[in-house]
Amino acid sequence: MSDKTIHLSVVVPLYNEENNVEKLHNRLQTSLQQMQINYEVVFINDGSRDKTLPLVLKLAQENPSLRYIDLSRNFGHQLAIFAGIENARGEYILVMDGDGQDPPEIIPDLYEKAKSGYEVVYAKRRKRDGESFLKKFTAKIFYRTLAKITSIEIPVDTGDFRIIHRKIRDILVKMPEQHKYIRGQIAWIGFNQTYLEYDRQERMSGETKFSYGKMMRFALDGISSFSTWPLKMATISGFVVSGVAFLLIIYSLYQKFFGYTERGWTSMQISILFLGGIQLLGIGILGEYIGRMNDNVKNRPHYIIRDSNIRRDE
Ligand code: UDP
Ligand code: MG
Repeated sequence: MSDKTIHLSVVVPLYNEENNVEKLHNRLQTSLQQMQINYEVVFINDGSRDKTLPLVLKLAQENPSLRYIDLSRNFGHQLAIFAGIENARGEYILVMDGDGQDPPEIIPDLYEKAKSGYEVVYAKRRKRDGESFLKKFTAKIFYRTLAKITSIEIPVDTGDFRIIHRKIRDILVKMPEQHKYIRGQIAWIGFNQTYLEYDRQERMSGETKFSYGKMMRFALDGISSFSTWPLKMATISGFVVSGVAFLLIIYSLYQKFFGYTERGWTSMQISILFLGGIQLLGIGILGEYIGRMNDNVKNRPHYIIRDSNIRRDE
């Protein structure tokens, strides 16, 4: 192919995936070579502490279509993806996980579907193999809730496995937020978006990098970036609790004049504690937003590249 434009970039974040990276590389090459297009694969080493980086460097030497970005430390899944999207040069950019859960075999279908007139085609999981019941259950609850409380349609049952047109990338890299929730940002951007169903597979090897703590933080990023629902809830519960407190005051006044004053002590204690709790909750929610605003105001670079073999002027 003489034409030098890259039709497709495949972006893969890698964090301690030494046992998966070669297998994934082979599956990717098999699937991409049959497509008869110019492509590049961009591996992002997100501060791995195992042999992921040397393996990637070795593969990149053998295969000129393999590009890598070595980040200076672990920046997390979303920022690793973001680094890949920003530096990818293809007309279409596909994002997938590096553990084999997102099958490279469906890339040709995703690409064809996108070419038929969609700026975004996300891969929607039909079933999830090898994940704990609790993970599937929490994911389900989270995506359904997020869909209810946000005003934009963030597709349910999708991860970041999707193909986007360069137009989307150009807008995405201009969105400055530090706490990225890329699937939400892409949904927010709009244009023609559709999906393709696939079966999510088991990790080829290794453990998930997401503890429930990390998932919780990620869920909060998703909610706080796209919804003010928690703030509204704080206000509403504030009203409800004040209403109840007002009734309690009338009740204790009634007790004072027509009953025994001492009996009011317990209910006063309870209501004070209850109010205190609600106030703390409200302050906590405000803090979540203010903390994120603070991070955005800092305007730091999203990630730092230690080394890469991507040259823009090639
Ligand atoms: N990952 C990353 N940085 C991190 C955590 C994960 O680049 O800090 C990569 C990881 O190597 C994998 C993808 O992100 O390719 C998804 O991670 P994982 O499989 O642990 O997530 P899960 O599938 O359990 O949601
Ligand atoms: Mg995984």
